[in-house]
Amino acid sequence: MKPFVLFLGLALGQFPLVAQYWQQRVDYRIEVTLDDQTHRLYANLAFDYTNNSPHTLDSLYLHVWPNAYKDGTTALFQQLNGQGTKIAMMDTSALGYIAQLDFKINGKPVSWSYNPKNIDIVGIKLNESLKPGKSLTLTTPFTVKIPSGSISRLGHIGQSYQITQWYPKPAVFDRKGWHAMPYLNQGEFYSEFGSYDVSITVPKNYVLGATGERQSAEDVAFMDSLAAHTQTNLTSIIALPSGALRDSFPASSKEWKTVRFTQDNVHDFAWFTDKRYKVLKGSVKLPHSGRTVTSWALFTPANALLWKNSIEYLNDGTYYYSQWNGDYPYTAVTAVDGTISAGGGMEYPMITVIGNSSTARDLEVVIVHEVGHNWFYGILGSNEREHGWMDEGINTANEMRYVATKYPNNKDFSDILAGGRLHLNDLNHHDVGDIMYRVLAAINADQPIQTHSASFSSANYGVIMYQKTGLVFHYLRSYLGDKLYDQCMQRYYDLYQFKHPYPEDLQEVVESISGRKLDWLFRDLIQTTKVVDYRMVRAKYLSAMNTYSVKVKNKGAIQGPIQVVSLDKSGKVLESQWTDPKKKRSTLMFQGGEEIALFAIDPTKQIPEINRSNNRINPNKFLFKKCEPLAFEFLIGDHEPHKTNIFWTPMMAFNRSDRFMIGAAFHNFGLPFKPFQFLVAPMYSVGRNTIGGVAELSKMYFPSKDFRSIKAGISVKSFGIQEDPKGQTQSYFVAITPYLNVNLVPNRTPKGFAHDLTFKWLWRRDVLPIDDYTVENGLKVNQTLRWNKKRISHESQLQFEGVLDYSDLFYDVASFARVSTTQSLTVTYLDRKMTRKMNFRVYGGYNLGYNSGASYYQGMGRYSISMFGAAGYQDIFAENYYFNRGSVYGAQYANDMGGFRTASNVLKMSNYWASSLNATIQLPVKPNIFVAYADVGIYEDSMRATTIYNAGLGINLADVIGVYFPLVQSSNMGNLYQDYASSIRLTLRFNPFNAPVKLANLINR
Ligand SMILES: [Zn+2]
Repeated sequence: MKPFVLFLGLALGQFPLVAQYWQQRVDYRIEVTLDDQTHRLYANLAFDYTNNSPHTLDSLYLHVWPNAYKDGTTALFQQLNGQGTKIAMMDTSALGYIAQLDFKINGKPVSWSYNPKNIDIVGIKLNESLKPGKSLTLTTPFTVKIPSGSISRLGHIGQSYQITQWYPKPAVFDRKGWHAMPYLNQGEFYSEFGSYDVSITVPKNYVLGATGERQSAEDVAFMDSLAAHTQTNLTSIIALPSGALRDSFPASSKEWKTVRFTQDNVHDFAWFTDKRYKVLKGSVKLPHSGRTVTSWALFTPANALLWKNSIEYLNDGTYYYSQWNGDYPYTAVTAVDGTISAGGGMEYPMITVIGNSSTARDLEVVIVHEVGHNWFYGILGSNEREHGWMDEGINTANEMRYVATKYPNNKDFSDILAGGRLHLNDLNHHDVGDIMYRVLAAINADQPIQTHSASFSSANYGVIMYQKTGLVFHYLRSYLGDKLYDQCMQRYYDLYQFKHPYPEDLQEVVESISGRKLDWLFRDLIQTTKVVDYRMVRAKYLSAMNTYSVKVKNKGAIQGPIQVVSLDKSGKVLESQWTDPKKKRSTLMFQGGEEIALFAIDPTKQIPEINRSNNRINPNKFLFKKCEPLAFEFLIGDHEPHKTNIFWTPMMAFNRSDRFMIGAAFHNFGLPFKPFQFLVAPMYSVGRNTIGGVAELSKMYFPSKDFRSIKAGISVKSFGIQEDPKGQTQSYFVAITPYLNVNLVPNRTPKGFAHDLTFKWLWRRDVLPIDDYTVENGLKVNQTLRWNKKRISHESQLQFEGVLDYSDLFYDVASFARVSTTQSLTVTYLDRKMTRKMNFRVYGGYNLGYNSGASYYQGMGRYSISMFGAAGYQDIFAENYYFNRGSVYGAQYANDMGGFRTASNVLKMSNYWASSLNATIQLPVKPNIFVAYADVGIYEDSMRATTIYNAGLGINLADVIGVYFPLVQSSNMGNLYQDYASSIRLTLRFNPFNAPVKLANLINR
């Protein structure tokens, strides 16, 4: 339908979707009283529901969302549980619900029931069907037990009340049908437009903020006097020290007041009340109509310093959003200081609640964002649950524009993000969103913008739905230019204000007004995870015309337009051109010769491009035309588009044979991760008087979303080996390990499943004092399957690991091959309001074969074909770091194979097969790093099975560092206390090259 409506002039016929549009209407009358002793609401509700659809309705669906807080079965608690808030950690007094419902329609009782799956949805069977164009009146009393404000958006903290989603309300019925939905924390709303007439009764000293116009003259005077008082005494309010005088709730007055609010053309009604509120009042004149809007800020004395300029933020937000999108249609705009939500803010029509902010700039951005939702949610009432980008994302684009307009050189936003310590200070507000998007996209962990709210991972919900959409509409504005972009958005606003637009409606309007086909945006950028990447190919000077012919190539999968500019030596833009969206290769002609110092694709980062290192060409250089200067930065930072960033950090290491090692690590682990990563850490060994250390290179590939990643790399390690007890000889090893890692996410597998396959080849040379050197070749295949499951009471992870390894020592003189499996179950559960972990692990290993040479070398203590896991020599593939590799009895063990957390002569003996059970349980003390452990093993010794065990206490830090103190062990392992110090075991597992894959797994859990 769309292609032929393009370019047809400006008659309304060009918007066929608008022409057929209809929507339902709901007009509410509510009386509600707050009991601030029992934290309950007592209310009566009536609404007139008008069926403007062409369909006859036999039933009605209502949201009764206070029931979302009732018990662990609700969609809200199921979701919160997955995000770390556990209902089991709450007192029942924190929960909430709606009660006393008694629905009547047109005065007659009706049959109704709770939805069997969602107790916060009610279905009503109409006594008489509702014909098109007809209305009905529904009435019911109701009470609400207000939940704790720490759970979600409806709640109270002490006597501070945030009353939202609190009354029975019809689900939207639109051209796509009914939209009954349970309340969720991650995932917003969809409601019918209409009018509200709400009377709120509270003790007289409560300060009220709500949707709508305040109708009670007495309360208008009360608010004006509070505003005058706050204005005069602002300095002394700010100076109030923390404590009872400033922070505690005054007693509730014995007298009551009823304040009435009315409003038309809104789709929700929220109210907030607190006895401590200070009030500021202002006004803003709208840019198009010249009408004046009253602005209100209600805040607690504790936040007075941050809020002192809040009226300016409200006014500027209202002004700029009006200018760009269309005038604010209501008479008041309010922001209240929500002592409830933990950071951020939440929008409701005409009123927004703001969480705690760390700085005034932070507060300004949150207020402006939430005020901006009046346009993208309040007035343009899209279905936020299904198309969250239409409100959050487009609103974020406006928020980015607001910051860039008011603070053109806003480089202080990145400092907020990183506390100023990382090298992110080249990033402005827009760039922070840009880098967050690219971090996810670079590890293939991003989801499409068009994803149902409940299907988003929390990282994607914030980064993709908000930030990436913001970047995409920023891109569109940059392409169309402000004037045309504003015309598009203003026409969208005119046509769809107080309506329910869908993505296709927005696309129809923008394509029609701009006269451009925008499939590359609405289909590809929004509905897929395809990336934008353009590359500069060449710049050729045509002297006869004093012109450059500049060729660029689209390397990405989005056929969008791209901006190419010529710049002079000072960085001033000389000429700027956009390519044709559909072309894979474009050649652009630029006027000029010597004065042009650089051609660049999108030098000011207007486009969410994934790789900016191929965007520049210097026409005056013969060699290295496209090379960027190296920039060394300490520790870590972001990859800047016009530099090759290398990060460095001093390194120090210690082991018994090298003694101290000192050097530096150079790497490119900046943000976002690059597909090609390297780390080189040469270190000088004091013990051996030579250079050792580690180096690793890897490259990641993302063939499709079925693969989280494919990584090919090579690792090189060289350290000393302690061979003789006196440590006089300079024995060392060099291990070179190429590897291939495949991280699979087979499509249609449930969330929380991961499949990891690694192949490693080893080439290792040990230079030893006894027989000069040995050469080892080896192959190791490791397959891991992992399932994560989150339930209300606990979270579990089941892991299956299979390993096959083969080592060939000294050209076939000694070789052996092993196969083993490990099953591990980790359960995270709640115990006395603390989360605690238990891990059980079962290992089984079998030596497929080894020759006599292998026994000989094992006898020499050169390595172990044992399967219980001991010390340095076990680590043939040099996968771990050791303080002492020289002995089976080193202080350190690798947490693999049999995983025994002790050392004993007996552990060498498991030559044929071995099996073990390891249990680790976190102790009920804070912090939860202390563990009790036990290992039981069985192995074949001289043709018969022998059992060993040990148990003790230990410390485990995030599975990276562990220290284990054995308390008991079986007698065949020797006397534990003879040399106790040497029985203490240490583990260390650390590999930065796994970070991208680990992060991707975490995001997609
Ligand atoms: Zn928002």
